[in-house]
Amino acid sequence: MKYRYFLFRPVTYLVVLAFVGININSYSQENDAGKPVNVIFRYDDYSANSLTDAELRIIKAFRRHGIPVTFGVIPFKVTGDPEDPAPRDLLPLDSVKAEILKTGYEEGILDISMHGYSHQTNSSAYLSEFANLQLNEQVKKMSEGREYLQDITGAPVTTFLPPWNTYDLNTLTALEKSGFTILSANKKGLAVKGSNLKYLPVSCDLTELKDAVNTARKSSDDQPLIVVLLHDYDFLDFNDVLGVLSFQEFFELIDWVSAQDDVRIISISQASEVIADLSADRAIRTKKIYYPEKIPPLSLGSSMLLYQESPSLVMAIIKTGAFYSIFLIIGAVLFLRIRKKIFSKTR
Ligand SMILES: [Zn+2]
Repeated sequence: MKYRYFLFRPVTYLVVLAFVGININSYSQENDAGKPVNVIFRYDDYSANSLTDAELRIIKAFRRHGIPVTFGVIPFKVTGDPEDPAPRDLLPLDSVKAEILKTGYEEGILDISMHGYSHQTNSSAYLSEFANLQLNEQVKKMSEGREYLQDITGAPVTTFLPPWNTYDLNTLTALEKSGFTILSANKKGLAVKGSNLKYLPVSCDLTELKDAVNTARKSSDDQPLIVVLLHDYDFLDFNDVLGVLSFQEFFELIDWVSAQDDVRIISISQASEVIADLSADRAIRTKKIYYPEKIPPLSLGSSMLLYQESPSLVMAIIKTGAFYSIFLIIGAVLFLRIRKKIFSKTR
């Protein structure tokens, strides 16, 4: 009888605490029907030598449903390895590549954004095209690239996607000086209080989209927002090393997402008009919980797949603390029980 009691108490603690932990993890989830989930697709690295076949198939997937995709275009792609900073020739877009963009824009499918200038790192110590460049150098590259893209596509280009999602404070100033109004990098990105730029960081990849939509449906955000990043190397048809899905699966995924009545697929440019808060403050709050989000249980709950409206560092600490307290308490209880049993035997 005494032996059963010895086992029973820790098991009860375990069940109760696990239950509490699970509930804390879903504390913010409430259902609010009628609130659309906003999904943005951002395709990076369109350039003179990117995979045109893959790009035409991507455009086709979106065109089938008349939904937009934001293309990150490199105006003057460096030849050879972009991770090698040695000076080399640059490739402007040829007429075929330019025509694809122009047609896509005119159809309302392509939202044209600028993804760097040549996408070449300026140092071998880190990967960045813009970080650590002088302000005037950054302004020059941005203005030149933007003017060129607007010229060949006829589209307004107001969004900048920094290569490797890396940049510095000068980049923020240079963007405003060059006529950009939106910055899309990742959740780690710098943001400055009071900056006039709109921030729209990437939140997930293609394989996480369904999870992200389901999470967004339960989110308490007023305008749940998902920014999906894709590259040509995501497709097994073109890259069997880095690929994560086939084009067939991609088509099915786009069919699925566009069939969801409560999902609104928008471009980055459209988001800057319909999403109420893309402020620097929101980006700063998001950056604060970038690393806490990597720690379970936050990484297990999928709120990290969204660009949350009010991510809270305090709440992240409480949730993570509660999760680990469970193990700590169970360990302590077991330790005390075992010690007591050994002690009573030796006495
Ligand atoms: Zn890139």
